[in-house]
Amino acid sequence: MPKSCVPVVAGLLWFVGPALTQQPQAQPGTKLSADQLKAQIRVTAGRRLRPPSWPNGARVAVALSFDVDNMSSSLARGELAPVAITRGEYGAVDGLPRVLRLLDKYQVPASFFIPAVSDLLHPQMIRDILVNGRHEIAVHGWVHENLLALNNEAEEQRLLDQAIAHLTKVVGKRPVGYRAPSWAFSPYTMGQVAKAGFLYDSSLMASDDAYEVVLDGKSTGVVELPIEWILDDYPVLNVPGGVMPAPELVNQAFQSEFDIAYDEGGLFILTMHPHITGHRSRIAGLEKLILHMKSRSGVWFATHEQVARYVKEKSGR
Ligand SMILES: [Zn+2]
Repeated sequence: MPKSCVPVVAGLLWFVGPALTQQPQAQPGTKLSADQLKAQIRVTAGRRLRPPSWPNGARVAVALSFDVDNMSSSLARGELAPVAITRGEYGAVDGLPRVLRLLDKYQVPASFFIPAVSDLLHPQMIRDILVNGRHEIAVHGWVHENLLALNNEAEEQRLLDQAIAHLTKVVGKRPVGYRAPSWAFSPYTMGQVAKAGFLYDSSLMASDDAYEVVLDGKSTGVVELPIEWILDDYPVLNVPGGVMPAPELVNQAFQSEFDIAYDEGGLFILTMHPHITGHRSRIAGLEKLILHMKSRSGVWFATHEQVARYVKEKSGR
């Protein structure tokens, strides 16, 4: 194998997971009855929240989101090598300003999910995001901690409380949206998110439409604004690790998702990161996508908060 192929192949194996690599894994589910298996599934999709129409008769709702992780996940893992740290730092130095310039150019709103530590390290970012009053700030952990790896209810609660308190102080109002770092829910996350009174979560994948999150058979009242790996820049454009370094192909997939959401009258949510999509070749792809969406009539560009409030109101809750 030529040496230059190694990172791509390694990324592919990471992406497709153990099924391809045939690593033996424990199979505890084989010993359980159907009822026992059912009881293990605690967080599920409740009522579908697709409104009969979008505001002003729009055919589709578009909610762009940026997870401002920067170097926070490296810090959480204790990965302090300057290359890893500066690669995240790019998000604050060049990535986010470039993203904001593009959104300004087309007057498109977006939601920014920010680990509190990202703000502590680069406090100018939130000021820049909020300057035009169009965007939303939402919670994305304290230091992009992996909640599954943490696996500690009290520690998770402490970090969530700290993150909410910090963003509330900086923004001047309590954030209404939550996205788990890496979308990784622990067994405690959904309960803590509901108890904190969040309007919406955006970490789960059960539908293309917004839906009510059910925990242990009961509706939590939290609106889910679902995400997907295929609607995320990270697995496909994050090098090393990404399997699709050509942004044009990624854009085709994003555009196709939008086109069918448009035909179906649905919701299009895209997850991006300033330290990934903020790079020059990647921002060009996002600009093409925005131009494509703007070329259609009846597209409602909104923050996650606006979408969540709208679908909740239309559902009569
Ligand atoms: Zn993140």
